[in-house]
Amino acid sequence: MKIAAIVTDIEGTTGGSGFHHDVLMPYSLKHIAGFVREHQEERDVMRALVKISDRTHIPLHNLEAIIRVLQQWIRDEEPVTELKALQGMVWEKAYKQGMFQAHVYPDVPEVLQRWQQEERNLYVYSRESVKAQQLFYRYSTEGDMRLLFSGHYDSTLGPKDDPQSYARIAEAIALPPQRVMYISDDRVELDAAAQAGLKTTWVIRPQDTSLDPERVRLKSPHPVVTQFGEIVLD
Ligand SMILES: [Mg+2]
Repeated sequence: MKIAAIVTDIEGTTGGSGFHHDVLMPYSLKHIAGFVREHQEERDVMRALVKISDRTHIPLHNLEAIIRVLQQWIRDEEPVTELKALQGMVWEKAYKQGMFQAHVYPDVPEVLQRWQQEERNLYVYSRESVKAQQLFYRYSTEGDMRLLFSGHYDSTLGPKDDPQSYARIAEAIALPPQRVMYISDDRVELDAAAQAGLKTTWVIRPQDTSLDPERVRLKSPHPVVTQFGEIVLD
């Protein structure tokens, strides 16, 4: 059966692993205080601060205490919606100023373009927020890639180790699971996707020295590739 949609992970799959943890996270930890102080009057920032104040019972005028909570949430990687919104704003400003670019492996865009020309729809499923995903592909080392994707899913849909999440994606894009391929560097995610009936491909980048693709290939229930050009869809 022809694969009609492809869903990809980001970190370790289309892009280098560690970008969120090593670049984005520390950047937001360092700059969130300055950003909030400088932009507190702006509507979206104010809206997030009001919700955080409600949630934590810290009075809105005690901005420095709210900032300390935000910093702690960043360190603990707390999945708080308002934090993610503020981080998205901090990152957007930094990307625009050219502080960093999102690393995408150079083999990826060409293959995604080919799939798109073959009238297959492309989706992203990542732990990071939809906003962070869109920024990632807008300011990537391979240029603005946003137009390649028909939709984005993040962990608000469900955790990546839960087969239900993949079933939900297939349902959301209105395709039987067997017509959807999930591509990732993470065995647990791939197992969950396969359990939901999706086709899978395991990307093991040469940069990931913890796994030997040749050895994994012998035992893996998922086809193993080292770059996107090797992926066989149908
Ligand atoms: Mg990954």
